[in-house]
Amino acid sequence: MKIGIPRALLHYYYSPFWVSFFEELGVEVVFSGSTDKKTVDLGVGISVPEICVPIKIFNGHVLKLLNTDVDYVFIPRMASIEKGKYFCPKFMGLPDMAKHSIPDIGGRLLTMDVQTRSENIATPEMYYSLADRLGVSEKQIRLACKAGARNFKRFLKLCIEGRTVSEAFEALKVPDGQAKPPVKIDGLKIGLLGYVYDVYDEFVSMDVTGRLRQLGVGVLTFEMLSRQELSRYVRKMKKSLFWTFSDKLLGAAYKMFRERTVDGVIHVTAFGCGPDSFLGKLLEIESEDSGIPFMTVRIDEHTGENHLQTRVEAFVDMLKRRNRTTGGESL
Ligand code: SF4
Repeated sequence: MKIGIPRALLHYYYSPFWVSFFEELGVEVVFSGSTDKKTVDLGVGISVPEICVPIKIFNGHVLKLLNTDVDYVFIPRMASIEKGKYFCPKFMGLPDMAKHSIPDIGGRLLTMDVQTRSENIATPEMYYSLADRLGVSEKQIRLACKAGARNFKRFLKLCIEGRTVSEAFEALKVPDGQAKPPVKIDGLKIGLLGYVYDVYDEFVSMDVTGRLRQLGVGVLTFEMLSRQELSRYVRKMKKSLFWTFSDKLLGAAYKMFRERTVDGVIHVTAFGCGPDSFLGKLLEIESEDSGIPFMTVRIDEHTGENHLQTRVEAFVDMLKRRNRTTGGESL
């Protein structure tokens, strides 16, 4: 049996779990390949115009998988992994959106609900509904959850050690202890804030982490911070953001701005993102209060490579000049 996983959205966070889970069950996992112009056009063609760009791209990846010989396309309903916090509503409605906007998906949609109290999405009961379609027992599902949890834990550890998600994915391909050490760059450091599917889809973000590294800049992202670090400031808020990943980004931003751990912050956001309209404003306020420069890069289906490169280079130049004249202190 072959299961297709769209190379989009939370693939950039939860694939280490899902791949190990399905492989433990003897299922072959197939990805939809990298995002390219054709993927975007396919997705735009079947999506409502108002929806955010990452969902359009996701739809393009689903269509690509449906054109292969996969038995199922796996689209979980991501509801909650934390008490009182939820995924963006688009994740909660993802299987329904796929069913209604992609009629060809028919019986090839494989879905289940992720509704748990732990970031480690290994609660076996959530997966029992897949047992019949995969032809496996509940005992096998429990063992598969353990395998998924082991790999996901390793992925999180690789990130905390200072690797980006892409680097952690590479590191997972070699045995434990043999991964390349995290990239260390002395000098300018930029906090890069954005949902994993915006930052790590190289077509979407035009490889912004690679560009920063080429410019000799160190990068700090939310997944390099521990849960304690991410919650240090948000837990003191009267009301936290309602959405899990927006909350992680806000926690990372508070740490960066308030503890002055970076020289500047770039927020990568997608056109049409509702939660980011709140988050972006909060980041602007933090930047003003701290004096640490902040730039928003908004991507849409037409964003050109030169546009992003020019803006990132100009931001880095400005930070270098500023550090030369002020020693990094607020102006
Ligand atoms: S958080 Fe924003 S970009 Fe992500 S799915 Fe929701 S609306 Fe789209």
